[in-house]
Amino acid sequence: MTIAFTSTQPGSTWLLVPRGFTTWSLKPVRGEVFNEVLSEATPIKFTFYQNLSFSYSPLEGGVEVAIEYRAPHAALIEEPRGFFYSTQVSASRLDDVRLEVKLPPGSGGDVRVYGAEGYEVGWADGRVQVTAEGPIEGGRLIIEFELPSKRARLMELEDGCFKVKAPSRYEAAARRVLEFYVEIYPSLRDVFNVELEGVEVRLYVPSVEDVARGVGGFIPFTGGKLGDVNLNLFYVRAAEGTVELIALHELVHHLLWRAGIQPSLLWVHEGLAEYLSIELGKQAGLGEAASSRERTLDSVASQLRSFGFIQGWSFNQPGDLTPYYAASYAVFKRLADGYGGLRLYSAFFNYTYARAPIDSDEEVLECLSLAAGVDLRPLFAEWGFKVAGGYTTEWLSSIEEGLARLPSWCQPARLLASLTLRVARALANAGLHDEALAAARVAGGLVAGGEVVSLLIYATLAAALALSFMQLRREKALAA
Ligand SMILES: [Zn+2]
Repeated sequence: MTIAFTSTQPGSTWLLVPRGFTTWSLKPVRGEVFNEVLSEATPIKFTFYQNLSFSYSPLEGGVEVAIEYRAPHAALIEEPRGFFYSTQVSASRLDDVRLEVKLPPGSGGDVRVYGAEGYEVGWADGRVQVTAEGPIEGGRLIIEFELPSKRARLMELEDGCFKVKAPSRYEAAARRVLEFYVEIYPSLRDVFNVELEGVEVRLYVPSVEDVARGVGGFIPFTGGKLGDVNLNLFYVRAAEGTVELIALHELVHHLLWRAGIQPSLLWVHEGLAEYLSIELGKQAGLGEAASSRERTLDSVASQLRSFGFIQGWSFNQPGDLTPYYAASYAVFKRLADGYGGLRLYSAFFNYTYARAPIDSDEEVLECLSLAAGVDLRPLFAEWGFKVAGGYTTEWLSSIEEGLARLPSWCQPARLLASLTLRVARALANAGLHDEALAAARVAGGLVAGGEVVSLLIYATLAAALALSFMQLRREKALAA
């Protein structure tokens, strides 16, 4: 990547330069450069880029500055398809930005360009060149291109039950994934207590839609079978450990499937794939990649008032799926925090394996409750889950038991709670389970806070009595 900055006047400017992932250099070719300052970009702070501002003054009528750095994997290729994604190109609005991208030898002129309002396709040095005029939308120029007469050379690596296939130019990435799978497999086997066989992995060149939607990987589910693990090559250029974390997430899907959990239970599959990949990823040294994913999911989940909506998550769910991933993750993270961490899920998978196939929320809740050693359904109801009807009456009975245990001086709370319970029962009998659950929640709260509620009512009564007593005395005084 070569940035050539030219001007005939003195002045100052800024642009973005890489931070961390590669080194860069700045050389004045003509004129003088001074006051070089590196700072965080604003208003958007970038993980991999920072703001370089500098001042310049021309000599012999002009100034020319060259900034250079290497950007590996800017173009991803599996012939006949190619995908180019620029580095972050942002510069002062006062400057004119012009981008020249020479496509690899063998590329044709049939290109799709995203991010630039105006562009031209021409030839330079025997190669197709795309020239775009700035500003670049979002700082990224994206080009989908083709190498029509070429065919990809594919390679395959195998170790144990894993086979990784990739275009041979990505052998290093393929090896990274394979070695990571072999390394992490014993920990996964410990948690799941099942064996994998014949897992095939494919590294693929993404489309612009894959990148826009943030698809890190996927596994097709067709004909009642889980297919190959597909990993998006785009993430080989992301932070260290990102590809491994995505690969681990996808592999967890295969193990969940072996443990008898149907892929149609998306909240279970995605929640556990997120939770287990983050937890095991941290143990396997994917520190920053795992923590950063965790932070993203935590912060989205903390904005949600209820998690119940994930029950309806289906394969053709439209819109932004981040809240679905975040809520599903939060459910399994909180369960783990409360009931024994990874051991909870080891026990859970023993039950799912024995009862396979698991394809309903009721079965999942039963197996989770068995693993935790307590009925988790009230907790799920509190999280806003619709829990099967039969359960509502069970829950009401448990609240009734709690009510019976309240000391006799808590009469006010007992009275209110038993009235609310009667309403909840009537609603449940009428088949209005949501409303019954809401009423049950109120009754449960009255029982749980029985002593405080009663004290408050007594205090209110005492205050009212004192007030009317004082009023009485004042009236008497006036009469006298
Ligand atoms: Zn997934």
